[in-house]
Amino acid sequence: MRSQDKKKERGTIRKIFGSFLNRYFLITLGIFLFVGVPSGYYLSNIVEKQFVESYTDSMLTNVETVFEGQLQGRAYDEVLEGEELESFEFVVGKYIEGESVSKVKVWGIDGTLLYASAGKKGIGNARDVKGHFKEAVDGQIIKEVEGEDVEVEGDQVGGEVLEIYYPIHAADGSVGNVFEIYATTTPIMASVRQAQTALAGFLVVIFVGIVIVGQIGARMLIKRNERLHALTKELEHLADTDGLTEIYNHRYFQENLTKEVSRSARYKKQLSLIMIDLDYFKTVNDHFGHQTGDIVLKRISATLAESLRTIDIPARYGGEEFVIILPESSAKDAIDVAERLRKTVGELRIKAGDEAVSVTASFGVADFPTCADDEASLVAAADSALLMAKSKGRNKVCYFGNLSETVVSTDDVEKLFNRLRHANLITVQALAAAVKGKDMVNNDHDFHKSPPETVKKIASVLNLKDSEMETLTIAASVYDIGKITVPDEVLNKTQPLTEKELAVIQEHPEAGERILQAIDGLELILNVVKHHHERFDGSGYPLGLKGNQIPYLARALHIIDAYNAMTMDRPYREALSPEEAALELRKNSGTQFDTKLVEKIIEGLKIEAPVPIDNADKIHSDTA
Ligand code: GH3
Ligand code: MG
Ligand code: MG
Repeated sequence: MRSQDKKKERGTIRKIFGSFLNRYFLITLGIFLFVGVPSGYYLSNIVEKQFVESYTDSMLTNVETVFEGQLQGRAYDEVLEGEELESFEFVVGKYIEGESVSKVKVWGIDGTLLYASAGKKGIGNARDVKGHFKEAVDGQIIKEVEGEDVEVEGDQVGGEVLEIYYPIHAADGSVGNVFEIYATTTPIMASVRQAQTALAGFLVVIFVGIVIVGQIGARMLIKRNERLHALTKELEHLADTDGLTEIYNHRYFQENLTKEVSRSARYKKQLSLIMIDLDYFKTVNDHFGHQTGDIVLKRISATLAESLRTIDIPARYGGEEFVIILPESSAKDAIDVAERLRKTVGELRIKAGDEAVSVTASFGVADFPTCADDEASLVAAADSALLMAKSKGRNKVCYFGNLSETVVSTDDVEKLFNRLRHANLITVQALAAAVKGKDMVNNDHDFHKSPPETVKKIASVLNLKDSEMETLTIAASVYDIGKITVPDEVLNKTQPLTEKELAVIQEHPEAGERILQAIDGLELILNVVKHHHERFDGSGYPLGLKGNQIPYLARALHIIDAYNAMTMDRPYREALSPEEAALELRKNSGTQFDTKLVEKIIEGLKIEAPVPIDNADKIHSDTA
């Protein structure tokens, strides 16, 4: 036989027996072996006992009627002669002896054999009055199965032998004689075996019946389970899938974002998110109709899904917006992926009937934990980056942590505000750092946790309460966030600013306040941010507050901001030394800066700075 044929045969055998030898069969077999067989054995014993019992009983009834009838209350000793003995023998021979009873003896109660049927051997012999015989002498009827094929008084009795001692009562009620009857149970045992065989057959039939019914039931159950399983899978798939585009839906995205964020937090891995919005999609619908719009959405979804790794999770966020979770991906990886997708989408010529439609998309990228520390803030950050991509002219990729070249129009501040509603401090700190022009793609992730050294140093010499200290350090990390509305060329301009440019710059504290309002828990910071450009003499912005009207921490932040700026390198000048910076602060004390605060800081930082002559009076009188 070729090995292929052998395999086929084995396959068929496995099909028949393999499918038969399922757990339902094994359960039935187990029940049969451990319950059916012992109960069958037990039942068969009962059957045997019952048969022997009823056989013996009927024989005894015979004996009773015959002997008692014949002797009528007399002892046998009294009928040993004449017609009566003949009649007795006749009755014994006719009604008792036969196929099964091989011998009948009559004993005197002293153990002398008075009568013996079939040969009358041994009459006159005596036996010990003990054991069962003694019990019979005492009036009990004894029935006992003696064993197989025993010899009784020289005669072989075949089969199982039943021995009966039967006491015969005299007229006064005492036992006069004892009858001993030997019978074979052979004929009855044949019936017992028949009954037992029938019982075994019955049990086997029941077992086979149960197996068949069980197998049919099991097969139905297995089939039903398989169908249910398939149905559950199908339902799960439907529940996770967007009906139109057949990629994952919003629910699935949210569920998995939560999982991925906590996984990334646990294993300290990066995680990136890309938000995508098709550009001018309303126009596509307007031009080609919604059905074509749908075809475009399907094709783009398929393209996104095809272009990603298997561990990435693309989903339809809603409408013509998509989102991709990129586990274990840095911002740089995600930006590369987004850039590739942007090109791929832009190059698609999507056929819909006779039309070929092209669309572009805008991409917002954010990563965990740089831009966000939970799923809501990650979405907010990616969504904000998407807003930037739109405001930069669409068909762009924008990374939330790299928005230094992005300018949000004053109108868009409101949109940004709305997107940051679900963000938190980490996110706005990341945004503020990005606005400052920090390179967040290659950043260190803990930038938000450690405010610049100078902020910590200066704040520490102001003897602030803990809550004020916290407010000042947080404010110091985000106060310039409003500069997202100021173009770079204006920020970095060395020439005098035009009135319009000046106005744009002067809007940034309030723009910052507006953006930070989106975040819960930052209420105390708002006032500090809003007024960090007020000047001590009232010539600052946005409100022109004066002296103590300006919140204390805003006055402090104004000095910190200036000191920081002076002690850092700028494109147009080198950094000042602490002494030069302190002199500069003193020169502007009373006009721009709070004189007392400036002195407190210079003293606290132990800077040996000269007192400028033209401001000496002011410094001395204010701090006196
Ligand atoms: P923008 O570049 O600013 O994103 O412009 P836009 O026109 O795409 O504006 P927006 O994103 O606000 O508009 C979304 C449009 O997408 C609105 C709706 O007509 C269309 N749209 C949303 N869902 C579906 C959809 O399931 N099928 C179709 N055909 N169009 C949809
Ligand atoms: Mg949209
Ligand atoms: Mg759109």
